[in-house]
Amino acid sequence: LVGEAFARIKEHDERVGAYLTLNEEGAHAEAARLDNKLGSDEAKGLLFGLPAGIKDNMVTEGLRTTCASQFLSNYNPIYDATVVTKLKQAETVTIGKLNMDEFAMGGSNENSSFHPVRNPWDLTRVPGGSSGGSAAAVAAGEAYFTLGSDTGGSIRQPASYCGVVGLKPTYGLVSRYGLVAFASSLDQIGPITKNVEDAAYVLQAIAGHDAKDSTSANVDIPDYVSALSGEISGLKIAVPKEYLDGIDPQVKAAVLEALRVLEGLGAEWEEVSLPHTEYAVAAYYLLASSEASSNLSRFDGVRYGVRAEQGGNLLDLYLDSRSQGFGPEVKRRIMLGTYALSSGYYDAYYLKAQKVRTLIKQDFDRTFEKYDVIIGPTAPTTAFQLGSQVDDPLTMYLNDILTIPMSLAGVPAMSVPCGFADGLPVGLQIIGKAFDESTILRVAHAYE
Ligand code: GLN
Repeated sequence: LVGEAFARIKEHDERVGAYLTLNEEGAHAEAARLDNKLGSDEAKGLLFGLPAGIKDNMVTEGLRTTCASQFLSNYNPIYDATVVTKLKQAETVTIGKLNMDEFAMGGSNENSSFHPVRNPWDLTRVPGGSSGGSAAAVAAGEAYFTLGSDTGGSIRQPASYCGVVGLKPTYGLVSRYGLVAFASSLDQIGPITKNVEDAAYVLQAIAGHDAKDSTSANVDIPDYVSALSGEISGLKIAVPKEYLDGIDPQVKAAVLEALRVLEGLGAEWEEVSLPHTEYAVAAYYLLASSEASSNLSRFDGVRYGVRAEQGGNLLDLYLDSRSQGFGPEVKRRIMLGTYALSSGYYDAYYLKAQKVRTLIKQDFDRTFEKYDVIIGPTAPTTAFQLGSQVDDPLTMYLNDILTIPMSLAGVPAMSVPCGFADGLPVGLQIIGKAFDESTILRVAHAYE
């Protein structure tokens, strides 16, 4: 499998651009070790021998971790993120580190400071973002599965554009230790896989409490794989009317068709309203940028990454390193965030956005009193053309309208392929109660 993954990379990745760093030597050595174990009675890990790709914002000991930023182009971490440790315990083989939008800021992967990723279904189109490399690698067969991170949609939207499965777990289910922080109250790591069963297996391997992450939840981890019973009769589905308004008609048709399939399996659906949906994008970009401006203050040219050549004083060192190290979108977010947090504007923007966040969470709480899952599209359109939105950040931000509310509420959500529109994959989004990944996996698996 490892040899096959590298063969696919050699054949396709020059065009797709999913990987930033390959771990070829290390992967072959690990594969040889596992091969030796194959014939023995020794216990084998849950994901024994599976080639995995890791988004390049999760630190890997001795393997370059760039966040797709020039700032970290020379950064070799001295420790593994908890998810990476857990994958090693499950005996996966790390193939390499995957391209992304710089510091996970973006929705098309065009903000990578190295090179963009192209959608394997149509190389003129974006794979989505920010985990574009993670989704494209699975779609192109360049890894058996990958890890992505999702702050406002970055696992689900690229999964949707690339026709693969992406799961954003409940906030706190998977440790963020060793994930380079973008917006700490939103960031979650999750699997991108070829099918739902694989997602259940990978989640099983990476979920669980971690004392190294103070926001990690101390909850019992169920058996996700045995939840895939195929049985959904009597399931109550809510379909928010706000999620079907103004979306591409072909995407809407694919989602309605999926609902008919679920009905055929014995589920019932009703239209509901999540009235605060329209405020989600504005609240998210204030909160995420505020947290980012604080988190990214650690990149000063002294502690991590590339230091600017300079002749001036310490302040010049900071200024030059940050001016040269960060790309335009990252600078835009830092400016927006520091503005929203500055005294005088804090109440008007940051505090107001926090209140809106609570209202959005209450929309979900109310809906989940009566329904088991919420279903809608993952994104308003299919993958768009490379370059078509790069000069228009606001349009780019509005693409996230269907994935941001769940991030603000902290609830789990999953994208599964549900057909095509003009030959491009469409994603169905299944949203669950906090820590009820089992139900969304069961529904997704029954549908698949
Ligand atoms: N597209 C969103 C943003 O640019 C989401 C990114 C993410 O989830 N990391 O912030």
